[in-house]
Amino acid sequence: MRAEDAGSLSEMAEALLLDAALENIPYGFCVWSPQFRLVMWNKHYRDLYGFAAEAIYRGMSLEEVVQLSAQLGNHPGQSPDEFYEAYSSQLLANRSGARTKNQEVVHGGRTIETAHVFSPALGWVVTHEDITDEIARTEVVQKRKLELERQNIRLDAAVNNISQGLCMMDAKGRLIICNEPYARIYNLPERLIKPGTQLEDILSHLFDMGMSAGGTREEYIAWRRDVIARREYGKNVHELNGRTIMMQHHPMKDGGWVSTHEDITEQKQNEARIRHLARHDALTDLPNRIEFLEQMAKTEAGLSRGEMAAVLYIDLDHFKAVNDTLGHAVGDEVIKQASARLWGTTRETDVLARLGGDEFALLMRPIEHVSDAAKVADRIIKSIGAPMIIGGQQIEIGASVGIAVGPGDGVKTDTLVKNADLALYKAKSEGRSTYHFFETGMDAELQQRRSIEAGLRLALQREELRLVFQPLLGLAENRVTCVEALLRWDHDGRTISPVEFIPIAEETGLIVAIGEWVLREALKTCATWPGDVRVAVNLSPIQFKSRDLTSLVRSALADAHLPATRLELEITESLLLAENETTFKALHELRAMGVRISMDDFGTGYSSLSYLRSFPFDKIKIDRSFMRDLTTRGDSQAIIQAVIGLGKSLGMTTTAEGVETEEQLEMVRKHGATEVQGFLFSPPLPPAALANLLHSDSVKAQVDRKKAS
Ligand code: C2E
Ligand code: CA
Ligand code: CA
Repeated sequence: MRAEDAGSLSEMAEALLLDAALENIPYGFCVWSPQFRLVMWNKHYRDLYGFAAEAIYRGMSLEEVVQLSAQLGNHPGQSPDEFYEAYSSQLLANRSGARTKNQEVVHGGRTIETAHVFSPALGWVVTHEDITDEIARTEVVQKRKLELERQNIRLDAAVNNISQGLCMMDAKGRLIICNEPYARIYNLPERLIKPGTQLEDILSHLFDMGMSAGGTREEYIAWRRDVIARREYGKNVHELNGRTIMMQHHPMKDGGWVSTHEDITEQKQNEARIRHLARHDALTDLPNRIEFLEQMAKTEAGLSRGEMAAVLYIDLDHFKAVNDTLGHAVGDEVIKQASARLWGTTRETDVLARLGGDEFALLMRPIEHVSDAAKVADRIIKSIGAPMIIGGQQIEIGASVGIAVGPGDGVKTDTLVKNADLALYKAKSEGRSTYHFFETGMDAELQQRRSIEAGLRLALQREELRLVFQPLLGLAENRVTCVEALLRWDHDGRTISPVEFIPIAEETGLIVAIGEWVLREALKTCATWPGDVRVAVNLSPIQFKSRDLTSLVRSALADAHLPATRLELEITESLLLAENETTFKALHELRAMGVRISMDDFGTGYSSLSYLRSFPFDKIKIDRSFMRDLTTRGDSQAIIQAVIGLGKSLGMTTTAEGVETEEQLEMVRKHGATEVQGFLFSPPLPPAALANLLHSDSVKAQVDRKKAS
């Protein structure tokens, strides 16, 4: 009721009071008479709809108000008539006194909620409230709720799909959620994985599982609680019944935490294995070079304080031949047996390593005297030198050892290792199966060897190789029956002995090409000799590796227009050391062609006698070392006698090598040797001199003379 409409004073006061109250309620308010006339309203009402103060008046019809309202932009999307129709029929339908609610859109897109109550005395009392902001707020809440639900679904999927164990606890230490891997890692029963489970119950179970950390159940639970209370989150690794579990705690904002649990047993084992593999040799499980060098580095400090340590570099002799001819499986077995034998020579503080191939190293620390290292080297050589039985066959291998002793030969790992290696080189070049200490000046020697190696590569094309020939005399025939071709290398103004360069040629594989040249050259020369003199050619075991040795021999014979019977091939025991099928096949093929096969240097190896049974040799050449000892050692004479006898019974001829004196000649003649070879009759000669000798009878005369005397 507006103040201006009041009658009496008291009525006026009442009206003023009511007016003030109406103006102060925080929403729009109006009353419609039962005849749809505007009776009462407040300023909020006007403001909500945008009515100016003078625009509305008491008694204004609903229709007029609706018209005005529409003009002001309220109820967009509806015509004033439509709106009036709907609104008035709604009011008319609601005369029960119950409160009904309605929403309308007004200018500016805001939403007004109207509530109507009908009283027969007053008409409709309507309140109007702008609920635009409230709607927006509830929409946001609704959205958040949806989002949260979606997140929960996602979390659930995540929790159940990760392979790690996961457990989420609230701030009060109650289980929110955990997944299957978590239950599996700790073997948790059904009742302990239910949401709401108390941390204590889980911890108690973990204690029963063996996660005690050494104390009692109470101590364990208290400790874990304490860790959580102090929020000491992070990684920790624990052992559980032989498995390794990595646990990680992550705090949550609300005071709870998430823990992840991963069984890293395999991962750790793999890591350990990889670490081990990186530092050990797979075949022998000995430390490898990396580990060895690190162990040596740890010894440096002691060495600089004056403590003594020795480094032994060990190399197997003939290993390459065994590996090449018998195959890698046998080679591997040789390495394994050798490493076991080496291991037997070490002490607890020593380090034995396999550096690769057939190379081993032994670090002896500490030692008292230099002689300690010599003793061990000696033991190593003896132990490796004893025959090995592999796959039913006997294999002989040797070891060469180079020794450097610190601090005298160096303190730094690099220096000691280099010096031990140089000493090894020396031991090998001195005929193998020996040891050698490092000496100053070895470096220069090695340089020399390297330059030989480099020079040898060019020797063939530079035509620096030539053959000399040494006759073999048949004692029954009393003439030269065979001539051995021996290789010479003229290099840098001097003639290098085959003893010096053949081993290098073998190691580098150059022997294959050189050997072919020797064979062709020897046969070519032989073709210029009288019809029945044979040529003997030395073969290196490496040459048997090239499969087509027989075709090479066949082609060289054809090129020289010589029958196979004019050729003798001399092989040494080291070839047979590796008794393998290809070797024997080649030997038999060659022999079937008519080529004669001689066993050279007989008596220098371990089991020469057993080799005699392995192949029907045509000739045995008794090593010249027996000739040297003939007059001083009684057993040499006995051996020569026995070998000649054996040769006879096996149908093999015998040649005595290195006959230098008349006494020696007499001796071998007495025992029945077939041939003799040596300086007494002739040194190796250039081709022309040899040809002269063959065409004269000077040698024959010499023999005759000796026979007569
Ligand atoms: P080898 O097969 O035992 O050759 C015989 C060696 O004894 C030759 O040494 C020869 O000069 C030497 N000699 C001959 N008569 C006497 C003597 O009365 N007293 C002494 N003390 N020595 C005598 P050379 O020519 O230095 O050859 C040494 C080794 O080199 C040969 O021993 C052989 O194993 C190897 N060799 C030589 N030429 C070749 C070749 O063309 N191919 C291969 N694979 N090896 C070869
Ligand atoms: Ca020979
Ligand atoms: Ca010989």
